[in-house]
Amino acid sequence: MYRNLVHGLNVKIPLNNDIYTTPINFDNAATTPPFRSVMKEINSFSPWYSSIHRGTGYKSEISSEYYDQARNDVLNFVNGDKDNDTVIFLKNTTECINKLSYRIKEEIEGGIVLTTRMEHHSNLLPWRLKYPTEYVETDKCGRLSIYDLNEKLKRYRGKIKLMAITGASNVTGYTNPIHEIARLVHDQGGKILVDGAQLVPHHPIDMKSSDSLEHIDYLTFSAHKMYAPFGTGVLIGPKKLFEKGSPEYPGGGTISFVSDDSVFWTEPPEKEEAGTPNVMGAVALSNSIKTLESLGMENIDNYELNLTYYCITKMKNIPHIILYCDLDFNNKISIIPFNIEGIPHEILARILSEERGISVRNGCFCAQPYVQRLLNILPNSYISRPGIVRISFGLYNTYEEVDILIDFLTEISSNIQYYKGKYKNLLYY
Ligand code: PMP
Repeated sequence: MYRNLVHGLNVKIPLNNDIYTTPINFDNAATTPPFRSVMKEINSFSPWYSSIHRGTGYKSEISSEYYDQARNDVLNFVNGDKDNDTVIFLKNTTECINKLSYRIKEEIEGGIVLTTRMEHHSNLLPWRLKYPTEYVETDKCGRLSIYDLNEKLKRYRGKIKLMAITGASNVTGYTNPIHEIARLVHDQGGKILVDGAQLVPHHPIDMKSSDSLEHIDYLTFSAHKMYAPFGTGVLIGPKKLFEKGSPEYPGGGTISFVSDDSVFWTEPPEKEEAGTPNVMGAVALSNSIKTLESLGMENIDNYELNLTYYCITKMKNIPHIILYCDLDFNNKISIIPFNIEGIPHEILARILSEERGISVRNGCFCAQPYVQRLLNILPNSYISRPGIVRISFGLYNTYEEVDILIDFLTEISSNIQYYKGKYKNLLYY
């Protein structure tokens, strides 16, 4: 639908038998190709960029203006609170969550962090390795268990200082009712962090409270999953939190005064962005946000979900396919995890790539405890190379591409022994 917006799709790749084909990229949950407009913006901005807020030159002034404007664009995109929130640019979602886990220490003192069993390791380990952490379980389909959520909220009433939860799972694509959960956590005096790495590129999001929506305290996401390049992550949260204490990386850009014996920190967000910042990354993100806004996040969501619905419906009719998610149209982004009975996930992913130029991802997707549950692996037991194959759509994927996938999955499913034999040198077990 939005195919010609995206850069680099016309590249031909050789397949096994030397037939060239245009690659089909169904691995958008890992990262997305950049928009053409983003590449153009990078090219036209490159002669102008300079170190920000430091030089007096014209180029430095332009760069500083663009960088500051990018913060406003990001805050508008997620409807953050202009009076109270600050937008911090870091490297990626992982770095953002780690920063928050360091800076929020005082707030968590004496209490617990509540998270879930469906988190990416980036929203699990920064909490689990630093604080007493409890978990909301998932149900047998892999959705967040609302029953267990209520149980945990009751059991730890008054102790939950932070709920750290993903907006959408990078494995199943299930979304969580973040505003309802925010209300329940706020009622107990806690705060909520939404890991938006998967949600923000695919679904409209509103951080600010309204009559029907409870506000989100902290939000993180990554530009490289939103049609902008690698190297830019966003952390949004109340400025107040970052005004207190010391940043975990002191150095250039974080201070307003240093003498032999004293240090005075500058204000957030600069206080949290040690060293020379990634101006180009912020400019690129701001440009990709403009394109997403002009298309409309509701339209994107709708298009991608229809494509997902179409694909899942067809996959359900193919023998030997095991799906690890359901057609939950209202609570889902465009991700489909599956396996084919009898073919190890890494071989299936390789077959798709080598035979038809279809890129997917396989394995545990940096969410091992969640994948272990989806595969019914007992907690803490060791299984050699467990995993799933994941299809994840971007806004530029087409129905024709899905048809190619479906035809080929049908063919594999009827010739499992043939394909296993052909790729047997890749079998590890
Ligand atoms: N959270 C989720 C839900 C993700 O899908 C990812 C990326 N796969 C991350 C966090 C980490 O993002 P990044 O690699 O950009 O730090």
